[in-house]
Amino acid sequence: MQELHDAPLAPLTTFRLGGPATRLITATTDAEVIAAVREADDTGTPLLIIGGGSNLVIGDKGFAGTALRIATTGFALDGTRLELAAGEVWTDAVARTVEAGLAGVECLAGIPGSAGATPIQNVGAYGQEVSSTITEVVAYDRRARETVTLANADCAFSYRHSRFKADPERYVVLRVRFELEDADGLSAPIKYAETARSLGVEPGDRVPLATARETVLKLRSGKGMVLDPEDHDTWSAGSFFTNPILTDEEFTAFHARVAERLGTDVVPPAYPAGEGHTKTSAAWLIDKSGFTKGYGSGPARISTKHTLALTNRGRATTEDLLALAREVVAGVRDAFGITLVNEPVTVGVEL
Ligand SMILES: Cc1cc2nc3c(=O)[nH]c(=O)nc-3n(C[C@H](O)[C@H](O)[C@H](O)COP(=O)(O)OP(=O)(O)OC[C@H]3O[C@@H](n4cnc5c(N)ncnc54)[C@H](O)[C@@H]3O)c2cc1C
Repeated sequence: MQELHDAPLAPLTTFRLGGPATRLITATTDAEVIAAVREADDTGTPLLIIGGGSNLVIGDKGFAGTALRIATTGFALDGTRLELAAGEVWTDAVARTVEAGLAGVECLAGIPGSAGATPIQNVGAYGQEVSSTITEVVAYDRRARETVTLANADCAFSYRHSRFKADPERYVVLRVRFELEDADGLSAPIKYAETARSLGVEPGDRVPLATARETVLKLRSGKGMVLDPEDHDTWSAGSFFTNPILTDEEFTAFHARVAERLGTDVVPPAYPAGEGHTKTSAAWLIDKSGFTKGYGSGPARISTKHTLALTNRGRATTEDLLALAREVVAGVRDAFGITLVNEPVTVGVEL
């Protein structure tokens, strides 16, 4: 276990933003994680869990408390069952499942961060979400002060959300268990239209696992969605806003605003999102409100490759980033009456 004081947190985040933590502990075993959490709880010290820092916006003043970086390791495959320690690098673990010939997470290749953070916002991309393959999450329950095993059904997974995100002070994820599929070296059925198009197959078809993974990585790279320290378009948290889910009534009002503003022939993106609900595209809303790729003149700008990613061009502060985010939220609200919600977790700041 490593311990540092007045430790800068910016280098631990993909935004490279945020002030120092009073104390930074790096834990490499579950026992160290639990000991650090217990100590913080016993002394009433605020606690911030950090995995890969790829979904965190930390305020410029930093964090007054203990930041606990989870650096545990463990990749255990037993047939089609996989158990990952929370600190495992997610995209490396995906590569290993593909090498092992197992399907289920191949389209989640390239998502930065740790395995332990994947259940927090039910990470998803290109037609897959971890909630489809996670069987159990082993976590330290800070309320019960013991390690618990939560079945998939107890995790309350939904679009970019879960029980863990809803109750952030309660669980520290230690291990995540998955059930993958042995489909003779083939991927899970390709669900996402863009991936199917790139692969030259129909949605629902299966393709060789490695081809699925490589295609997704290529698509992601073209959008600045694979980390590259040389490329400021990837100094981000990926998508900064979630796609809004509207009730039927809200969608009708939105449709009317679109017609009024852009003409009756313009059809806004609409995807079914459960009984009486429709999901629309945050990227479309941002773009149509006038915030196009590369928008901004300061040190925080919209990515030149993806409208949904806010980025640090190198010298930004968290306040610069938040000013841009607030400008986008206000612009979209004025144009379409929809209030965008941030996807990354904010620490010591609010949008
Ligand atoms: C370039 C880029 C592309 C991205 N693309 C996608 C994408 O396609 N799909 C997607 O869903 N996300 C995407 N993201 C967001 C991000 O990668 C994921 O949310 C990822 O799971 C965050 O993991 P992390 O370890 O970096 O978490 P962190 O940023 O370190 O933490 C995020 C939150 O989870 C909590 N947390 C972390 N680990 C634990 C743990 N073990 N126990 C309890 N709480 C914990 C933290 O306290 C914090 O609240 C992208 C980010 C970037 C930078």
